[in-house]
Amino acid sequence: MIVDLVVRNVRLGKFDQLQQIAVQAGKIAACGSLLDLTGVSEVDAGGRLILPGFIDSHVHLDIALVNDMRISGRQKPYTSQKEMMADMEARKKVFTKEDIMLRAETLLDMAVRHGVTALRAQCHIDPEVGLRHLEALLEVKQRVASRLTLQIVAFPNQELLREDTLSLFENAFAMGADVMGCAPLHDVDRRRHIDVAMDMAAKYQVDLDVHADLALLQVAEVDELDVVILARKILATGFQGRVCAGHVSALDSLPQSEAMQVIDLIREANISVISLPDLYRLGRADTQHVRRGLTRVKEMLQAGVNVCFASNNTRDCLRPYGNMNPLEEALILSYGAHMDEVGQLETLIEMTTTNAARAIGLTSYGLNPGDNADFILLAASSLSAAIINQSEVSHVFKAGQLLVENQRTCIWHVPTHYPTMIL
Ligand SMILES: [Zn+2]
Repeated sequence: MIVDLVVRNVRLGKFDQLQQIAVQAGKIAACGSLLDLTGVSEVDAGGRLILPGFIDSHVHLDIALVNDMRISGRQKPYTSQKEMMADMEARKKVFTKEDIMLRAETLLDMAVRHGVTALRAQCHIDPEVGLRHLEALLEVKQRVASRLTLQIVAFPNQELLREDTLSLFENAFAMGADVMGCAPLHDVDRRRHIDVAMDMAAKYQVDLDVHADLALLQVAEVDELDVVILARKILATGFQGRVCAGHVSALDSLPQSEAMQVIDLIREANISVISLPDLYRLGRADTQHVRRGLTRVKEMLQAGVNVCFASNNTRDCLRPYGNMNPLEEALILSYGAHMDEVGQLETLIEMTTTNAARAIGLTSYGLNPGDNADFILLAASSLSAAIINQSEVSHVFKAGQLLVENQRTCIWHVPTHYPTMIL
């Protein structure tokens, strides 16, 4: 039998025996060690690892890449979080639709090059920019559909509790936004903000994506945390399984026993938590016991919470870093959350694949027959090596189409013991 594509000699999880993957009409048709199938096109993976595509579940796509790519680093000295935000608001005033689209498409190409096949973008909506950013990202979504699955979150970047803002959000869902955003810090009445955002999500039958507890607190009270207010609202309304909470940094400020109470509540409400690389901005005022604000990743994983990580800001006024490479973000989290054991490094890969897919509600995700043929080949001897070696994603497939190949080349002109095999 002839199928569209056969990828030969892949290593699948811990199987020692090399496997073959067959693709037909954009879906995985079969997977096994002995497949009697021929592909119209064939790729020899040469023993590389295969994984479903990486997922970046929280990206500020419309404000990304405003920094000069040739001179990397923070453009002005850091003063305060407030000033970073003010800088971003000032830069936003000169964005045009074309400019947003160009930066967004460039960023998405960076992501695809590193094996990202699905991405959830936060899109700023407020009375100043109106729906301009959304118009741009919806057009980008169409343009990149064959290379990347893009979800767009209608993100309230200023107060939500204003009449002119709420009507913008009604229009956003009529235009095609995928997910309702929520950022309680932008309103004085955080409870009401969460109520209104969840009501909007329920009305349009979309998921809710929350920026929760972004700040580290000197005195944190369980009942006042965004994530606690959110979890109780979810349990009262039956919205379990449809909510992501990004950041959740203030969990670092609670004593262990209180943090564990909050984690139990997060699990009960079935909230997926997205750890974001807040190392660059939090704890700067701490003069001893410097906190890092990556949230309590290990404790939540151990308690059975669905936890993933994402890149958040990339080369903008807030974060000067970022290559849209999940293996790079995994390494940062590995250091920051003390996840250096082999099993923990393997978990980090699960977090940016299966956990992230569950967080953003992707269906037909995986490597089983019938799943979308969105997968990558990794030039790595193991999952943990992929992070520590910062291995290349050698091939990226979307719906069975090979989009990009990467090679790391090292040409020695003297004898060497450096391995020349797949790294
Ligand atoms: Zn964010």
